[in-house]
Amino acid sequence: MNTQILYGKPVAEHIFSGVRNRIEQLKAKGITPKLTVILVGDDPASMVYVSKKHKTCLELGMLSETISLPAETTQPDLSDYIRNLNLDPLNHGILVQSPLPAHIDEAVIVNAIDPAKDVDCFHPENVGRLVMGSPRFVPCTPGGIIEMLKYYSIETTGKHIVIIGRSNIVGKPMANLFVQKNRYGNAAVTVLHSQVPELKKFTQSADIIIAAIGKPLFVTAGMVKEGAIIIDVGINRIKADTKTGYRLVGDVDFEGVQNMVRAISPVPGGVGPLTIAVLMQNTVHAAALQNGISETF
Ligand code: NDP
Repeated sequence: MNTQILYGKPVAEHIFSGVRNRIEQLKAKGITPKLTVILVGDDPASMVYVSKKHKTCLELGMLSETISLPAETTQPDLSDYIRNLNLDPLNHGILVQSPLPAHIDEAVIVNAIDPAKDVDCFHPENVGRLVMGSPRFVPCTPGGIIEMLKYYSIETTGKHIVIIGRSNIVGKPMANLFVQKNRYGNAAVTVLHSQVPELKKFTQSADIIIAAIGKPLFVTAGMVKEGAIIIDVGINRIKADTKTGYRLVGDVDFEGVQNMVRAISPVPGGVGPLTIAVLMQNTVHAAALQNGISETF
């Protein structure tokens, strides 16, 4: 089969170009979108993610601030930082980098963020709006996947989409987007998780599979219908004979399924760059809304 590889970079570039235009329009009105990221502790992976977000904001011409707090920061102290950012009219987006230290309840922190500045789209009000079909923001990774499908003209209406994984970050919001009554929704959605036996009973009839499990090479050829489309969200390190001693792979056995599917996103190089692009889009959107400029995505 002539398999199409769904690279994320051109999709991210497409999103960034729209974001740049909107930033210019806002700047002409005296508004510079600003994202503040709070990092608690010194988890090396989190530090890399946070610095990437900061760099991307600056490259796009936005303002960016990182508040780095020690791992011992208490929950009330962290909530105070968030309250101050909620009240700052020059700050439009707030993101608290996860994972948080074990003594901090992530749900309490998410609830402390002003929903109008919740650019991760994790606040219950924003999740509710998404479910009801009137989203304020789009959850970043699932939103990026929708952008990828749009970019490559992959229709979802009437399709059976199987999502493997039900996390609040990927699986559940992804399912909510695909059941919406719009062009990149309108799908028959099945959500699978660790309590479902015999996953292949469902995956073998999928037109589109979204794999968000966090287990290397989990989806194999025997689980996939000929001609299906696969979006691989997973990012896993496995030992390999490389300089670093490891390599990154997705949740899908790319080599095993490549010749039987119509299209597949690679890891790395697929969904990866899209999350941050949608985060930037949400921040610009937040800045517009907070200044009384209504716009739709
Ligand atoms: P979580 O660990 O929060 O969720 C994993 C999901 O997979 C759970 O719902 C779990 O089921 C399910 N699962 C685990 N084992 C099995 C199994 N044997 N059979 C069926 N289902 C199973 O992960 P995330 O959603 O946060 O992330 C998933 C992957 O995507 C990770 O590799 C992560 O690194 C990557 N990721 C990539 C992003 C990007 O930007 N590209 C962004 C976010 C995540 P249960 O609920 O029953 O435990």
